[in-house]
Amino acid sequence: MLCLQIVGWVAFSAVLTSFIEHQVHQKLMHRRSIAAFKRTFEAHALVHHKHYSKVFSDEPVAPGEDKEIRLTVRKAPIKALPFAVGIALFSWLGAAIFVATMVFHHWVWNNIHLEMHKPEQRIFSRWRIYRFLARNHWLHHRYPSKNFNVVFPLADYILRTHAGATDADIQCMREQFGTPAAKPMPI
Ligand SMILES: [Zn+2]
Ligand SMILES: [Zn+2]
Repeated sequence: MLCLQIVGWVAFSAVLTSFIEHQVHQKLMHRRSIAAFKRTFEAHALVHHKHYSKVFSDEPVAPGEDKEIRLTVRKAPIKALPFAVGIALFSWLGAAIFVATMVFHHWVWNNIHLEMHKPEQRIFSRWRIYRFLARNHWLHHRYPSKNFNVVFPLADYILRTHAGATDADIQCMREQFGTPAAKPMPI
């Protein structure tokens, strides 16, 4: 029974995290609308997108200079708190699993987003799931109003902001990265 509960709360947390990731990325990181999140908007929409608009991947990350690629993992429990309090009204186990899922989300975001923009051929760089996520994110940089999910690409499908690659997109990726056999690449 406990096992089933854990599986259920993990699935619930993954879905909720997908929607939070989508809405935070779309509404706070890409819109200047809320003054309190001005720095979040500038760091992402201005610094990150501007830097990676022409070249998706460049050299491995230099210390203290990651062009707003990473989230702050230790802030994940704080961001999760308002939702965790609501979930705790029903289940402490659910609240704990949700906070753990948010921490995991931030950790995965940092690792895959770094590999996408600063490739170092990390161990997962040839995994099919990683390449799917990298292609999704490459398309987000090409079409900034699409593909807001980076880690859990579910909300994009439900909220109709998902974009697949067109023939022209694939051609453009080939020009940037060559073929998979020619050299290791994120896409
Ligand atoms: Zn990016
Ligand atoms: Zn973005």
